[in-house]
Amino acid sequence: MATIPAADLRTRVHELMPQVRADLERLVRIPSVSAEGHDPAPLVRSAELVAELLRAVGADTRVLRAEGGHPAVVGYLKAPPGKPTVVLYAHHDVQPPGPDSEWKTPPFAPTERDGRLYGRGAADDKAGVLAHIAALRAYDGKPPVGVAVFVEGEEEAGSERLRGYLEGEGDRLRCDAVVVADGGNWRIGVPAVTTTLRGVVACVIEVRVLDKAVHSGGFGGPLPDALTTLAHVLASLHDERGRVRVEGLASGKAPPLDLTEAELREQAGCPSRARRSACASRRARMQRRRSTRW
Ligand SMILES: [Zn+2]
Repeated sequence: MATIPAADLRTRVHELMPQVRADLERLVRIPSVSAEGHDPAPLVRSAELVAELLRAVGADTRVLRAEGGHPAVVGYLKAPPGKPTVVLYAHHDVQPPGPDSEWKTPPFAPTERDGRLYGRGAADDKAGVLAHIAALRAYDGKPPVGVAVFVEGEEEAGSERLRGYLEGEGDRLRCDAVVVADGGNWRIGVPAVTTTLRGVVACVIEVRVLDKAVHSGGFGGPLPDALTTLAHVLASLHDERGRVRVEGLASGKAPPLDLTEAELREQAGCPSRARRSACASRRARMQRRRSTRW
């Protein structure tokens, strides 16, 4: 298909929205919680619904299942000759909803309030799934590039089988760009493209200072303490102003964001008195408290 002018595309997307919204609500009604201890059956249903939506738009679609894992869905639309391929990523699993008392309306009954759709997964990340499907619908299933849609079912539970699924698909997922519809915009009504994210590192640190366990009443004080040592190690990762102090980690200046400190604090629920140096002042307070107790 030839490239569609942006104005026409906008009109098409606008026309498609009622059905996209209805399909999003179908998906939100499925309690696809991937955390351990929750019923895995709904994840099969949400994967099947995603597969149904992808097939309806003409994608060559399969549901991938790995032993002990939750299903992922892949759908392929071949690239026109000489055109690049884009992988579109989203996930169909959700976080546990927590206590019902925290919800104004039931978590798996999508409800519109003040122009927003509420329900577990309505934003993260079933809206992402539908954004990809809406894009394919806007092009009548014939986008101007090759598309591989990959919708994971255990993003909220550590993505343990993601590598296996990706390796299993091999060259079919080879692409020129990946679009991950699992981010946020920091202002309602302003679309945002995230180009960089902070990563995380998980590791186990073991601190051992004695050959055996001894009673704190008899030995505490003169001997090294493992917990205190560990606290010192952890505290050394940042300086007193909260800046990362790990050798080898790059840091630099980023272009200024169109976001004020007040907006950031409000979105994060961070009171104005809490600062990045909170750990330093908390440490000082704890030291004061300890000295009065002694
Ligand atoms: Zn997500």
